[in-house]
Amino acid sequence: MSYLYETHLHTSQISACGESRGREYIRGYKQLGYTGIIVTDHFYRGNCTVNRNLPWREWVNQYCRGFEDARNEGARQGLDVFFGWEETFDGDDYLIYGLGKEWLMEHPEAARWSRREQFLAVREAGGCVVHAHPFRQHYYIRSITLAPALVDAVEAANAGNHEQYYDALALRYAKKLGLPVTAGSDVHDTVQLAAGDVFGVYLNKKMETIADYAAAIRGNAIAGLKMPHGRCDSRGDEKAVLPVDILDAEERSAAQDLWDFLKN
Ligand SMILES: [Zn+2]
Ligand SMILES: [Zn+2]
Repeated sequence: MSYLYETHLHTSQISACGESRGREYIRGYKQLGYTGIIVTDHFYRGNCTVNRNLPWREWVNQYCRGFEDARNEGARQGLDVFFGWEETFDGDDYLIYGLGKEWLMEHPEAARWSRREQFLAVREAGGCVVHAHPFRQHYYIRSITLAPALVDAVEAANAGNHEQYYDALALRYAKKLGLPVTAGSDVHDTVQLAAGDVFGVYLNKKMETIADYAAAIRGNAIAGLKMPHGRCDSRGDEKAVLPVDILDAEERSAAQDLWDFLKN
């Protein structure tokens, strides 16, 4: 028996680019046989609708509204809904799982973390950090930033990526580093969901809380990925068009082969 989860979803209440409310996703994911979804709206430095002038606790309160809307409807229809977030740095995005609203309330410094502080603090609290779509090359991204020592896993397949080779590069990158891989839809509206263009991960154990997902990633227990057949297959000619920055010199050797490949 395996359980299917959406790992990357945006609501219109919180993500400025989102077009469907949390509650509107529930029916479609149920119909497709998902056990649950993780809401990962754009966080403090991302494309987020919540007023940054609010006191921190009120900011967190409002930030959780998209998730809570989905969770309440999920409870009515029988779909599990979990909380996560997606933070952005310099065009590089990270999905954070395992921590909840109460934890965030007590940690206003989360709004100002460096990548390293993010990794250390999230892990210390039992959570995990997943590099979202690391090789996406869109107009709003100036360079590809990789932080191989500061993530627990790599989102290899992202349904929001326009080019399949971004995902092939991401899988090669993860394999090079020996990191677990995930798949997610980066869904911003129910049109994509209705078209069935959604990805996800399979787990062998049903999640009770979001801490279970962090534990599955850190324990390398993702049972499989839901994505179109061959989505991450390499054709051997994928290239990074944008400049690539690999942060953390000690870790650069671990990614050296890929680094050379990307530079050429
Ligand atoms: Zn977005
Ligand atoms: Zn996203």
